[in-house]
Amino acid sequence: MERPLDDDVWSHFSALQERRPGGFAIAALMRPPAEGENEERWHERAREARARGPFGLHTHWTAPDHARPSAGDPPALVGEQGRWLESVGLKPTFFCGGGWYLDADVARVVADLGYADCTATAFRPGYLEPGAPHVQLDEPAWLELGEGRRLLEVPTTHSIGMLARGLMAPFRRQIVHAYFHDTDLLDGRRANALRVGLRLLALRRTVTDLDELQRDLRPEKTMSFANSRA
Ligand SMILES: [Zn+2]
Repeated sequence: MERPLDDDVWSHFSALQERRPGGFAIAALMRPPAEGENEERWHERAREARARGPFGLHTHWTAPDHARPSAGDPPALVGEQGRWLESVGLKPTFFCGGGWYLDADVARVVADLGYADCTATAFRPGYLEPGAPHVQLDEPAWLELGEGRRLLEVPTTHSIGMLARGLMAPFRRQIVHAYFHDTDLLDGRRANALRVGLRLLALRRTVTDLDELQRDLRPEKTMSFANSRA
């Protein structure tokens, strides 16, 4: 969720979560309020979203409209946001780094906070420069982080478009985990594609949600963080 404080975006997202297309509990991975944004309203909305589905942290390192880090200390900001969420009684179960950014230090902080991660993607996001840090994974795995720490990684496998295309062909993956941005819902065509995609997916696969998955998942695959970088 990029813009939970925008009333129009929020009402579209709330309606979708309420409707549960295909029976899916839609997770809200929320960007915490930036300086000058209304914290009180953010809390209210985070609590509403949390009551309707799994809840997670989505960090934008640079600005509300600039997700990837450009300077500063990426792990420190994640730790700060995680502790702040806990202090206000909101305990995320998942993390997703803005702009699909994850480095080993951020991964350690996420593991220490007790979250699972879904920043890895099964595809290479088109806008990333060659060599830009990114974790690419097809299936869930444990990421070994050294000193006995590990992070449960549940990769994001499908965009709205990939979900729609996948419905025409067999889904090869053990787990289909589609993502979208709350702002996508303002585009009627995309919002409709998402709803239809989820309903058809539910007819072909077993419906679950991120929290249920996290509880039951015991991936066979373990890999060192360094080898997962693509
Ligand atoms: Zn974002």
